Amino acid sequence: IFAAVEMAPRDPILGLNESFAADARSEKVNLGVGVYYDDNGKIPLLAAVRTAEKARLEAAPARGYQPIEGPAAYNGAVQNLLFGTDSALLADGKVVTAQALGGTGALKIGADYIRRLLPGATVYISDPSWENHRALFEAAGFPVENYPYYEAGTRGVNFAGMKARLDTLQPGSVVVLHACCHNPTGADLSDAQWNEVVEVCRARGLVPFLDMAYQGFADGIEPDAVAVRAFSASGLQFFISSSFSKSFSLYGERVGALSIVTAGKDESARVLSQLKRVIRTNYSNPPTHGGAIVAAVLNSAELRQMWEDELGGMRDRIRAMRTGLVEQLKAEGVAQDFSFVVKQRGMFSYTGLSAAQVESLKSDFGIYAVSTGRICLAALNSKNIGYVAKAIAQVVKA
Ligand code: PMP
Repeated sequence: IFAAVEMAPRDPILGLNESFAADARSEKVNLGVGVYYDDNGKIPLLAAVRTAEKARLEAAPARGYQPIEGPAAYNGAVQNLLFGTDSALLADGKVVTAQALGGTGALKIGADYIRRLLPGATVYISDPSWENHRALFEAAGFPVENYPYYEAGTRGVNFAGMKARLDTLQPGSVVVLHACCHNPTGADLSDAQWNEVVEVCRARGLVPFLDMAYQGFADGIEPDAVAVRAFSASGLQFFISSSFSKSFSLYGERVGALSIVTAGKDESARVLSQLKRVIRTNYSNPPTHGGAIVAAVLNSAELRQMWEDELGGMRDRIRAMRTGLVEQLKAEGVAQDFSFVVKQRGMFSYTGLSAAQVESLKSDFGIYAVSTGRICLAALNSKNIGYVAKAIAQVVKA
């Protein structure tokens, strides 16, 4: 039965990691990664997480099945982060939330549910987008198309192009929007532009699907929820996938959630019942550990403060790397203006480096990046930033 099976194409980023691991140069740097590293180049285990884990270990809870949609303590905490504790939508029972297997799992159950709800819909993703968006929605059975997003000239958003395209879409089209810290470009919409997107979605009858993988990595928990708040105020129905992979540094625990905003309590009950069918036939119910840790942290005033401080530390470190890189490039005599790196948000930057420049960073310096020129700022640290700046300066001046 497997004789004719062909080799699937390699994941380009995993391929990059393999080449990096095989590189013998001690000064090598991997800027192709999609995770946050601390100043020692390690994935942190947050103190808030460690404290909650210790308490959980001591309590030694039994491991029964969870509710299909996950526990209320977790889902409620997710809702408060996304919508704010004073949200009228929450008070009115207009939000359905289900714990999911990371942000990816949330997108997947959302996609499967929308496929049942709107089988003829087309899904629109930004150009470019996180590479799994297309694959995931196509695997759920949708045609997937792009809307204009990144503008190479300004290294920002081509908002006029984006809006003009959204304005032509069929009612019922699904529009996937990066709620903050756009991956891969680092270019986000302004608050005013979010309001315009909300109005286009309303006018055209579109189905917004916000993907929130980096809440707290740009300006903070509250300010990073601006897109969620703009859609919440609109009275529209929409979807949000959210993830704690980055903000809690819990990548391997697979902790995320799907939230759906409905028109009212009764609709919420019906939507939840359908969403539970999707989950039941996928993986039955979510795993316990990661969600329990996140809920314990978010539902304790003390641990929550500890987490917010640690999250702030990660955010500040990324910012410091952004400013540091721009300053050091200048100090290396690079004439080209790299100040856009400071304006971009989250872990990533589209640097504008060409595929050939990325290739010479790798071959001449052992610095690995994605061929599109995307780099992860959280892979820079006080020890390697000088080396990276020197190397980039050399390839851009060549
Ligand atoms: N959406 C975006 C935009 C992402 O960048 C990522 C993670 N790289 C995800 C979703 C998936 O998150 P998770 O690792 O929690 O599945």
